[in-house]
Amino acid sequence: MATTTLSPRASSPDLARIVEALRARQRFVLSSHSRPDGDAIGSQLALLYALRALGKEAVAVNADAAPPPLQAFPGVGDIVIAPKVEGEFDAAIIMECGDLLRTGVAGFEQYFVINIDHHPGNSGFGQLNWFDSSAAACAEMVYDIVRALGVPLSREIATHLYLGILTDTGSFHYSGISPRTFDICRECLEAGVDPVQLARNVYDSNSMGRLKLFGAVLSAMQIDPTGRIAIVYVDHEMAREAGGTYEDTEGLINLPLTVKEIQAVIFFKQVEADEYRISLRSKGDIDIGVIAKEFGGGGHKNASGCTAIGPIDALQKRFIEKIEGAIDGRAAGR
Ligand code: 5GP
Ligand code: MN
Repeated sequence: MATTTLSPRASSPDLARIVEALRARQRFVLSSHSRPDGDAIGSQLALLYALRALGKEAVAVNADAAPPPLQAFPGVGDIVIAPKVEGEFDAAIIMECGDLLRTGVAGFEQYFVINIDHHPGNSGFGQLNWFDSSAAACAEMVYDIVRALGVPLSREIATHLYLGILTDTGSFHYSGISPRTFDICRECLEAGVDPVQLARNVYDSNSMGRLKLFGAVLSAMQIDPTGRIAIVYVDHEMAREAGGTYEDTEGLINLPLTVKEIQAVIFFKQVEADEYRISLRSKGDIDIGVIAKEFGGGGHKNASGCTAIGPIDALQKRFIEKIEGAIDGRAAGR
């Protein structure tokens, strides 16, 4: 158990209103975005365990299963995977979602909705909303809620908070990390989290198909003429040949950024025919969040995504022009 306790962001009236609403209610359904990542699962389950510690009923409902490396984390196997939510609940707590559609689950609008998020562009869709883009992970915000509720950090709660922070900061690579981030991690370790084992579970439990698919995708990688943008692409046939799945490409997009000269990466995943899921990553001040938003998606300055339709060559050209503009705009100090 933690020996010292950080005070929550006491200045947030939104946090205070949410804590009051949680105390006053009994039955909760919790959700996060479709194709959940570590922060989605971590935030959701940390809060679920905290509510249960207060004697409340809490269930998690998501559109998609957690990625394989997260399956072994506490409570992940109990998440209900469903396209639609049903049942009697006093509130739906939605984390990590810019709007209700991001859950991929229908029916949350029938409940009292509490919206907790750190992504720029959140639409404020809840009856109660708490948005803090300064949080490195939504799990930092959940930490504040857990503390404000007066719930001690159990090992389960600490594990999920640490999971959210570790993965959403890209293992402490991305912007948004603050002294507070490490204070929370320190408390998680004091509550029993083993950071070595946890990182091994997240990062070192891959299949051979995943490694082979990484090889195939990286072999086919292209670099734009300026040498600053990496373009990676995967379709169903490549995945099948390598013996991997699309889920296995999780994290692949970050690898080109390990090359010093590469400033941004664009990853096209064919959905079907001319429809593509597009992920963008960048370094430093290059804002690719606004680019994804122009295409109807969203995300952060250095990590964003969207879906787009069009012949791949034309899409590639348009995105590269936009990203080059973002890189040159940054260089010009604009
Ligand atoms: P990824 O590339 O890992 O799918 O997403 C990177 C970041 O962009 C995540 O923070 C994710 O929430 C956000 N993002 C990805 N796709 C979309 C999208 O279609 N809409 C919105 N609003 N955000 C997205
Ligand atoms: Mn997040």
